[in-house]
Amino acid sequence: MTSPLRFCLRCHRENKRSKVFSLGGHSTAMANADGEEFWDEDGVWHRHDVNVVTQMFQCSNLHRWQEKRRHRCPAPDCDWNRDVKSDQVIEST
Ligand SMILES: [Zn+2]
Ligand SMILES: [Zn+2]
Repeated sequence: MTSPLRFCLRCHRENKRSKVFSLGGHSTAMANADGEEFWDEDGVWHRHDVNVVTQMFQCSNLHRWQEKRRHRCPAPDCDWNRDVKSDQVIEST
């Protein structure tokens, strides 16, 4: 699996270079709340996963932050994706 490029936003703002370490993450795996999967009237596959994944990061200048994301529906023009906010970054010191 490949990961997208990732930088520390704060170091980036201050034009510093740093390594980013993943401190691991967790999912709000709610029992029996995996969302729903279905094929719509056009035969298009949908998957509406309600779980939120939280991942913690720390850079080599000791900035810490976490990112929360929800899975998008594989159907490109699904209303569900409009509700899914783009990756939400919460900075913390
Ligand atoms: Zn940093
Ligand atoms: Zn959908």
